[in-house]
Amino acid sequence: MMYGDYHTHTTYSHGTGGVEDNVKAAIAAGLREIAVTDHGPRHLLAGIKLRRIPEYLGEIERMRAAYPEIAVLSGIEANFISVRGDIDLPEEYADRLDVVVCGYHKGIRPMKAGDAVYLLGNLVSKNSKRTLVRNTDAYVNALARNDIDIISHPCHDCRIDLRAVGTAAAEKGTLIELNGKRVSMSADDLVLLASLGCKFILDSDAHRPDRVGCADIQTEVWKQSGLPDELIVNLAGAPHFMRGKAERARRRE
Ligand SMILES: [Zn+2]
Ligand SMILES: [Zn+2]
Repeated sequence: MMYGDYHTHTTYSHGTGGVEDNVKAAIAAGLREIAVTDHGPRHLLAGIKLRRIPEYLGEIERMRAAYPEIAVLSGIEANFISVRGDIDLPEEYADRLDVVVCGYHKGIRPMKAGDAVYLLGNLVSKNSKRTLVRNTDAYVNALARNDIDIISHPCHDCRIDLRAVGTAAAEKGTLIELNGKRVSMSADDLVLLASLGCKFILDSDAHRPDRVGCADIQTEVWKQSGLPDELIVNLAGAPHFMRGKAERARRRE
């Protein structure tokens, strides 16, 4: 059982429930914390609309006041969008977010024409060495340039050099997600990441309220890895996030 679920979606991207539905589901599931982390604005089909972000953040703050039994954290699931390490975290709102998740997704609107080569590479030449190098650079440079708390579903839809990414994540303190929708890494991958000093976080990636708090599909691969549960930061208690703002939600300010 997780203490909190730090990756959930609502109708602000392509989830089926509202912010309040996710919060109520989290309470019903016995969670102590929930983060709402809708898709970053450059996701073509599912991205949150920039103009709706103030409303999104306002709604999360209202939930914080309305449901004192749970800490409600504001977040985003940003996208890796260039090999230079750009992510679509909206700068103007960055200081209002408690937690930043970032992942690779298909269907991202590139910032520059050259970025399309990186993004399309995962569709047209998925197994080429150059695609792997570009993906790895995108992850590693993004980790260096941005305070990313969690890498969502690493390796899903894109091949990366896991050793290079794990080294960068461990150095920065970025958590590796065990995603409740997708098993994207093997037990051996997890053992490698742990040997590099990485820590893990269990999240649902719920796109429906009734999936909040669910990450059962990871149980088997985690058991196979033989790694100790202490390496999962949200089993025994609340994890630390880089901005330190989650404390504000936890104190219900
Ligand atoms: Zn995702
Ligand atoms: Zn997600």
